[in-house]
Amino acid sequence: MPAPQSRHPNFPVPHGNTLRAKGWRQEALLRLLENVLSVGEDPENLVVYAALGKAARNWASHKAIVETLIGMDEDQTLVIQSGKPVALLKTHASAPLVVMANCNLVGQWAKAEIFYELEKKGLICWGGLTAGAWQYIGSQGVIQGTYEIFMRIAEKRFDGSLAGKFILTAGMGGMGGAQPLAGRMAGAAILVVDVDAARAKTRHEIGFLDEIAPDLDSALAAIETAVAQQKPVSIGLVANAADIYPEIVRRGITPDIVTDQTSAHDLVYGYVPSGIPLAEVRRLRVDDPKYLMAASRASIVRHVGAMLDMQKAGAEVFDNGNLIRTQAREGGVENAFDIPIFTEAYLRPLFCEAIGPFRWMALSGEESDIAKIDDLVLKLFPDNHIVTNWIDLARKYVPFEGLPARIAWLGHMERTRLAVAVNSMVANGELKGPIAFSRDHLDAGAMAHPNIMTENMRDGSDAIADWPLLNAMTMCSSMADLVVIHSGGGGYAGYMTSAGVTLVADGTIAATSRLQTALTNDTSLGIIRYADAGYETARDAAAKHNVGYLPLAEGAI
Ligand code: NAD
Repeated sequence: MPAPQSRHPNFPVPHGNTLRAKGWRQEALLRLLENVLSVGEDPENLVVYAALGKAARNWASHKAIVETLIGMDEDQTLVIQSGKPVALLKTHASAPLVVMANCNLVGQWAKAEIFYELEKKGLICWGGLTAGAWQYIGSQGVIQGTYEIFMRIAEKRFDGSLAGKFILTAGMGGMGGAQPLAGRMAGAAILVVDVDAARAKTRHEIGFLDEIAPDLDSALAAIETAVAQQKPVSIGLVANAADIYPEIVRRGITPDIVTDQTSAHDLVYGYVPSGIPLAEVRRLRVDDPKYLMAASRASIVRHVGAMLDMQKAGAEVFDNGNLIRTQAREGGVENAFDIPIFTEAYLRPLFCEAIGPFRWMALSGEESDIAKIDDLVLKLFPDNHIVTNWIDLARKYVPFEGLPARIAWLGHMERTRLAVAVNSMVANGELKGPIAFSRDHLDAGAMAHPNIMTENMRDGSDAIADWPLLNAMTMCSSMADLVVIHSGGGGYAGYMTSAGVTLVADGTIAATSRLQTALTNDTSLGIIRYADAGYETARDAAAKHNVGYLPLAEGAI
């Protein structure tokens, strides 16, 4: 089989069955590190996605991590602090091979300016959610999440179908790049604006974008035709969203659905203010970041102002996790939070049952392994219509990026059943090599983010970061292979804390035990987090699955 394609010739996708490390567990984590760079946005600078989300702090750290993974034994643990390896400790064979803490600042000091200062000094790095944790699988990782959001809106507002509906959004980077494909898969006519022609070109080349329109008039004409013919289409436009959104309002056009996935969380290295050419923005990032922050904020104020206007005119408008409302409110848009967050608006009922973005990667690089696991998913969960529908769609439309991988929203015990069954397939040679499992940090028990994941929790526990910390500790004590705690987000100003976990199905009996224990405990804590916040669905799930929840007597605190 030919080697999997990399977006970047200098960063090949690992494949084959020759081990460089002393065992598959170590080799697996090494391949995941290589993979995030091969599918990343700017690997020369170690940047994977989300503006500055890095796989390692610097190249010296990267080299030391690679050498350590290759040389370490199974009863050792590599300790990584903000992308820099700091210790290799003797532990035991059931302990995690790698533990990490990325971008965690103490409360009062968790401010964008302090982050940038420490970053410049080389003391810290932002790991995004899955970048620093080596779990990113390209924009395919977020396609199902985006698709499910669109379909929940279809059910809520449009009788279950987006045929003939117009979605307006922006951002075609590492995550936002999934939007054109997800919109088209959902049956809509989607217009995606990005200020960087290179990003649009990449999404066009991989087939996520049907065409790049030369200007707004042509883009809107193409959308109008597709809407009239009820034809799914994805159109790109190279322009600044802070100019285009208000212009669409000015023309009296109201899309059916409006969102945005520019990297608005970062006013310096992410969001591009209107009126300043991209090359000049790149210079200002170094020469005058303060000016850039102010300019970005002013643009976001106009950008969100237009989103609010479209909401008033009847569009379904939502924040897709990039903190654009937060930045706008800080810029004086007092009603920015009239725009709901996608988690609370559409996905919380799923999280109450610990259903979330679970993913697996074929470490051998063999696409046939993913095809066999697709078949297994369909066989194991025939009544789970979200998943069966998704696997059918993904097989048809989602191209592999880097190591062949699949994402599917699975819940409590579904993940465990699948992973244990896959481990048996590795053991009996049905698959060509081991499989790594991980899940997004945006998962039921794994993230505290009061402006994304935990906004408006029923008991008001939005900002309590104990849950992801407990999750990480539980994953360490449940024998996971890699466990990580991330913080930052929102201009890196301590907007969130999250935990990540990766497990390797290498076909051994020990792996069965690790997968069984860690994946079951991970989703148990997810259900418990929502049960404890007072969600009935989660309380029912806790009782049904006997997840070990310890509720206090009614009325006790
Ligand atoms: P990225 O930095 O890779 O890409 C951002 C894109 O936005 C770039 O292509 C850039 O050119 C474009 N852009 C910036 N300013 C613009 C403007 N004014 N007009 C038009 N285009 C502009 O970031 P990413 O990885 O795609 O992530 C995007 C955002 O989504 C981030 O804020 C990230 O934190 C957030 N995110 C959300 C989720 C989720 O689950 N909803 C998951 C991951 C990331």
